[in-house]
Amino acid sequence: MSGAIRPLQTDYDFVDNELADFFRHHDLAAMNAGRPQVNEEEVTFADDGHKELLETIKTPMLNNEGELVGVLGIARDITDRRKTAELIEHQAAFDSLTDLPNRRLLIVRLNQSIANCNRHNYFSAVLFIDLDNFKNVNDSLGHPVGDELLKQVAKRMVSELREGDTASRLGGDEFVVLLMELSEDSVQAAELARLGAEKIRKNLSRSYAIDKNTLHITVSIGIALIPMENDSADDVLKFADTAMYHAKESGRNAIRFFLPRMQVEVDERLRLQNDLHQAMLHNELDLFFQPKINSELNIMGAEVLLRWNHPVRGNVAPDMFIPAAEKSGQILEIGQWVLKNSFIQMDSWAKQLSLPENFHIAINVSPHQFRQKNFIANIEQLLGETGVDPKYLTFELTEGVLVENIKNTTIKINSLKKLGIHFSIDDFGTGYSSLAYLKQLPVQELKIDRSFIRDINIDQSDASLVETIIMLASQFNLDVVAEGVEKVEQYKFLSAKGCSSYQGYFFERPMAEEAFTRLLINYPNYSKNIK
Ligand code: C2E
Ligand code: CA
Ligand code: CA
Repeated sequence: MSGAIRPLQTDYDFVDNELADFFRHHDLAAMNAGRPQVNEEEVTFADDGHKELLETIKTPMLNNEGELVGVLGIARDITDRRKTAELIEHQAAFDSLTDLPNRRLLIVRLNQSIANCNRHNYFSAVLFIDLDNFKNVNDSLGHPVGDELLKQVAKRMVSELREGDTASRLGGDEFVVLLMELSEDSVQAAELARLGAEKIRKNLSRSYAIDKNTLHITVSIGIALIPMENDSADDVLKFADTAMYHAKESGRNAIRFFLPRMQVEVDERLRLQNDLHQAMLHNELDLFFQPKINSELNIMGAEVLLRWNHPVRGNVAPDMFIPAAEKSGQILEIGQWVLKNSFIQMDSWAKQLSLPENFHIAINVSPHQFRQKNFIANIEQLLGETGVDPKYLTFELTEGVLVENIKNTTIKINSLKKLGIHFSIDDFGTGYSSLAYLKQLPVQELKIDRSFIRDINIDQSDASLVETIIMLASQFNLDVVAEGVEKVEQYKFLSAKGCSSYQGYFFERPMAEEAFTRLLINYPNYSKNIK
């Protein structure tokens, strides 16, 4: 009998080599095992390119002597069976009307998201969205119209999402949107969640054309941030649902946070941002100048400090609004205003007064501004517009932004240095202040942070830190400014250690432009303050 089963043609004659290898692999497996093997093989047919999923049973064939003579393969098409299985799987996880993830899948994603937020320390948000008075649509126009409305709502919701976010339908007219990885800062995350919710609310309240009807609906949205503490997916959904309920109570078509405190903070910040925008429009911002005093106790320059004359709140300190402006990005606009007006002011002093040698004004540049790609070009343009001589300008930057990308920073600083602009490290000592960095940075000045000067006469460790900074500065040939000098003892300590300049209430407070101009004209010497 042997020899009767001789392959005339092989798999290689029917399908491409790769697929034939794959079949051969299964054949060998059956031969090696010595018993039938069941496999799934996807086949693309060469003639018309159609695909079939085959279930094959490969059975080793033996002759009477028990020798292996071949493999018998029986295949059947299971494409439909697989499709049905996939459909069932899909139906278990997706809503059949809108095709959005259903509650089951949402819970899975929520749990993942809670775990990720905890692990990576950021906040995500859950929006619970409920259509207002949806029942009326069903009752008056019928269920098919209601269904169509839900479908369109789902589409619009999805169109507002970023990749990675999830919109799901819990059932009825209840939807849940999961906004992922908003921020590491809870208030900022809340703010972004609110913006996202607002976008969805607006989009969903545009009119819908269904059959011959034009429909208008509104939605109520509740927001809960994740993680809060030890919360489960069910808890989070409950929180967001509660918040949604409050939105309904407030008269519908509204957005509410689960935590009232979060609501207050977000409202507050939004109001501040709005006010700041108005401030820019209505010229409520002002520049103050705080004299910097050299070792001969003469004025050598000034730090430019921003002031805000709020029509209701009065004078708002920069610490109250700069951090918020940093977060909202408004600092760019504000910073630009500061730069331009400082340049104009400086130019006018240079033209009208006889200034002491090496006089300069120090402008605080926020990290956000400095990171701008066009920072240099922008400065060059402002210099051109205002005509100020760059030799009068110093930029104060905090350590953090200087060291975050040393190479890039160095290039930026050097190109502005070429124009004559000086650089100073602000709040020195509070951040990274690694010596290795200091050596690399092309800056001319260090400003010792006020917090170290404050207790210099009572706290030994502050005193030695300040002394070290001064020594360090002289080794690197840097000027050193002590900030926040309020008492004569502080000045005496600093001058004994070789500090080169001072700034603080002991000499002068920040003052308006007219007052500083008068000082420049009188050009006082402050030795009279030292007794
Ligand atoms: P800073 O850069 O550390 O500015 C020094 C702050 O110390 C100023 O507060 C100044 O008024 C205050 N100060 C000076 N001497 C003394 C003193 O002897 N005692 C006390 N207790 N305080 C003193 P200010 O003007 O409230 O500014 C606060 C911060 O706001 C600044 O800290 C700076 O980070 C930021 N800032 C101010 N103006 C601007 C600006 O135009 N742009 C940017 N990006 N930030 C600014
Ligand atoms: Ca400063
Ligand atoms: Ca400071």
